[in-house]
Amino acid sequence: MIKRIDLVNTWQSYVETDHDDPDRKRRAQTLNILLAALFVMATLALLFTLTMEITGVFPPAETRTIYIPSALLSLLIIGIYYLNRAYPTAASVLFLVILILILAAGDEPAQVAAGRVQLFLAIPIIMAAMVLPPWTTFVFAGLVSATTGAIGSQVGIVFTPFASFAYVVIALVSYLGASQLEQALRRLRRTNEELDQRVEERTRDLVDANRQLADANDRLRELDRLKSRFLSMVSHELRTPLSAIQGFSEMLLAGIYGPITPGQRNALDRITGNTLRLLDLVGDLLDRARIEAGQLALHLHPFSPAELAEDVETTLNVLAQSKGLTLTTSVASDLPALIRGDEARLRQILMNLVNNGLKFTERGGVMLHMSLSQDKSGGPEPTWIVSVSDTGPGIADEERAAVFEPFRRVDDSSTRREMGVGLGLSIVRDLIELMDGTLTLESTVGLGSTFTIVLPLLPEKEMIYE
Ligand code: ADP
Repeated sequence: MIKRIDLVNTWQSYVETDHDDPDRKRRAQTLNILLAALFVMATLALLFTLTMEITGVFPPAETRTIYIPSALLSLLIIGIYYLNRAYPTAASVLFLVILILILAAGDEPAQVAAGRVQLFLAIPIIMAAMVLPPWTTFVFAGLVSATTGAIGSQVGIVFTPFASFAYVVIALVSYLGASQLEQALRRLRRTNEELDQRVEERTRDLVDANRQLADANDRLRELDRLKSRFLSMVSHELRTPLSAIQGFSEMLLAGIYGPITPGQRNALDRITGNTLRLLDLVGDLLDRARIEAGQLALHLHPFSPAELAEDVETTLNVLAQSKGLTLTTSVASDLPALIRGDEARLRQILMNLVNNGLKFTERGGVMLHMSLSQDKSGGPEPTWIVSVSDTGPGIADEERAAVFEPFRRVDDSSTRREMGVGLGLSIVRDLIELMDGTLTLESTVGLGSTFTIVLPLLPEKEMIYE
């Protein structure tokens, strides 16, 4: 296989010529191929003669008349090959003239003038159209006629009209064939050039588009970084004065700065309520910015799930009662007393889900339930489950994915009138993902929704205390 490839390469580099004009190049290459064929023939003739001499079939006197012309021919071929590199037209003319001479000298004058050699003399006429511009085939038809005429004059045959006519017809056919071929090749070259140009233009366009895309990408990344930095900076700057307002309002309400009138109490209640809402919002913005910057870390400690459930219930019962709703929490007895996890973040998740349930439910209530996972199909790792169900308006199937996107809220009147910016569920989902847990939502419009969280369980005895 390797040898074959080498042979192909050698042949290609032998045929190859480095002329600029494509027609000249093609003709020079054709001449190289013809020279190679002739060289092989001369070599075979030499080998054949040698074999005949060794086996005694041909007497040495006869073989000598073959050796010398064959060797001379081989040398000539090599000479024409090198001439073809620099002067392809001269090389082709020389080649054809020599071919005519060899054919004309190879037989008796009568055979050349009006016999079998006439047939072979058509070869250089046909070849002229291949290795020279097509019109030269007529010149060679004339040259062949003149040569046969000159040789024929030695034996009294000066002109053979039929043969000369045949040479002109052969020249005409060769000329038509070769010029058709050259035209087709020219058209092909033009199409190729146009295609090359088009590919070049498209490549340039693509490179441009790529560069623009990369620039836009860089700008977007930079904007994203700036947005996260801006969010966390603004949130920090807002949190401090808001906490101060909250603190002073509470002190005023507690009468630390003296007695207050019922009207002042009412105003201070509103200040406290709104400040709390603003603080929640700033907290959510800060969390979103931290999550997006990949800077939100969990702090794992052992905690009591029952205490967590009770804490959520106590905090949000006021809201439930104010709306005439029930808030019930239950913890299954098989759940370990202590579980390892980020209690503060879990509280944030549950407060968010229960608060949403209470916010959007008009009749009935919200249930919070914690238990061990009974489903062993999920894998060997033990898990625990927290579910938050409500009897509210429910979430339609087509909205199910959207409610977990930041700043997305369901666009219907039942939930739209409630306060909120649409950040809560997106933070809940990302926090649960960070805890290696899963969050699923089942909901029926008009009946209610159930958010189910499945988290990995690490019992207390295996806990690593931080
Ligand atoms: P927010 O409560 O600030 O609007 P969330 O991200 O917590 O933002 O919720 C996004 C949206 O999902 C809500 O606006 C509401 O339309 C819908 N949603 C969330 N929880 C419930 C629920 N328990 N029942 C019905 N719709 C809900």
